[in-house]
Amino acid sequence: MNNSARAPRVAVVGGGLGGLVCARVLQNHGRSVTVFEREASPGDRPQGGALDLHADTGQVALRAAGLLDRFRALARPEGQEQRVVDPVTAALVGHQRPAEGEEVRPEIDRGQLRGLLLDSLDAGTVRWGRAVSGVDLLDDGTRRLRFADGTTEDVDLVVGADGAWSRVRPAVSAAEPCYTGVTFVEFGFDDCDTRHADLAALVGDGTMMAKTGGKGIAAQRNSNGHIRGYAMVRVPEDWHRAAGLSLADTPAVRRYLLATYEGWAEPLLDFFRRNDGGFVNRPLFVLPAPHAWDHVPGVTLLGDAAHLMPPLGVGANLALLDGVDLATALVTEPDVDAAVRAYESVMAPRSAEIARACLEGLDHFLPEDEAPETVPSFREFLASR
Ligand SMILES: Cc1cc2nc3c(=O)[nH]c(=O)nc-3n(C[C@H](O)[C@H](O)[C@H](O)COP(=O)(O)OP(=O)(O)OC[C@H]3O[C@@H](n4cnc5c(N)ncnc54)[C@H](O)[C@@H]3O)c2cc1C
Repeated sequence: MNNSARAPRVAVVGGGLGGLVCARVLQNHGRSVTVFEREASPGDRPQGGALDLHADTGQVALRAAGLLDRFRALARPEGQEQRVVDPVTAALVGHQRPAEGEEVRPEIDRGQLRGLLLDSLDAGTVRWGRAVSGVDLLDDGTRRLRFADGTTEDVDLVVGADGAWSRVRPAVSAAEPCYTGVTFVEFGFDDCDTRHADLAALVGDGTMMAKTGGKGIAAQRNSNGHIRGYAMVRVPEDWHRAAGLSLADTPAVRRYLLATYEGWAEPLLDFFRRNDGGFVNRPLFVLPAPHAWDHVPGVTLLGDAAHLMPPLGVGANLALLDGVDLATALVTEPDVDAAVRAYESVMAPRSAEIARACLEGLDHFLPEDEAPETVPSFREFLASR
């Protein structure tokens, strides 16, 4: 590590939730930081669905970043409503509504939360269109970022906040994400209150869930009358290739889903029939739990890059907490190395415990031993082609 008196050069790789909140807290304390983001601009791609931020994690992080009030102005407490419906009849079999004033897990669109974090940063903090391809550890302690465009940047600390397929992670760990056996196939509707009032009523203000036989359907209200949902299935990762499907062939994916969910209630199958756009394939990957590494000076990880886990409602919350914890350590510990060690000593055990619980949670949520009920219909579908 360079020992000169100058301020450490901190590079955050990845302008997702964890990386941006880390930069925000550093700037709140007058520290300089640069975020390198591979997307070309803030509006480069849709940011995905709604996230619930928990009072004891995500909201704690936003309060530390001085952003809780701005979050509350955008959040939807009514989105905490949970509905469970019977897969065969679509009758409501479980229902929880938030109490008046309850803010334990209010929902916010991921795009709104990211926008809020971006707006909180000094102009020019995020360098858009800068995809990192790797990190070199130089003998003098400098960390060299290599970019996909062939350029490099030398810094003192690289923060890998670049998500599931982190290009920073190989600098500290050989671990790679592995497929869980579960895939989410995403669908969505605009203007649901006017064009799909029946489906909007089924979903309510928050999340609707139906599941049986190792598969499920979840649908969730987002802002601006949008509903986003997922067919959740235990299938081989290459299910679409095995079925001879192109994922871009919306009618073929629809037929596949209708065959897989044969016998389910018509209103639930309507989620597939009326899907506005294409279907998005989201195979779920996880890192080993725990994902531990020997401390490497000048490089660390946060969020999904450090502890990718099944999406059971904690990943974004933990990424925010990691970002705040790392930044706080960087402004309170005597030097960068002490700060990173302090951060890692808190983040690693916290995430290991939660990652293990989420893996068990996924098995409980879509039990593997129920999957044979899914597999025959999967095989029947293949045979029918
Ligand atoms: C279907 C689904 C639903 C989910 N629902 C929830 C939920 O309800 N609640 C919850 O808490 N969590 C949820 N999660 C998990 C949550 O999305 C993640 O845990 C969270 O986004 C992790 O944040 P992050 O900042 O670590 O990474 P990300 O949000 O993945 O951000 C990484 C950033 O790095 C950038 N990047 C990637 N590679 C490079 C590169 N090489 N160079 C430069 N930049 C790069 C990306 O463009 C991105 O902007 C869900 C996940 C999925 C898949």
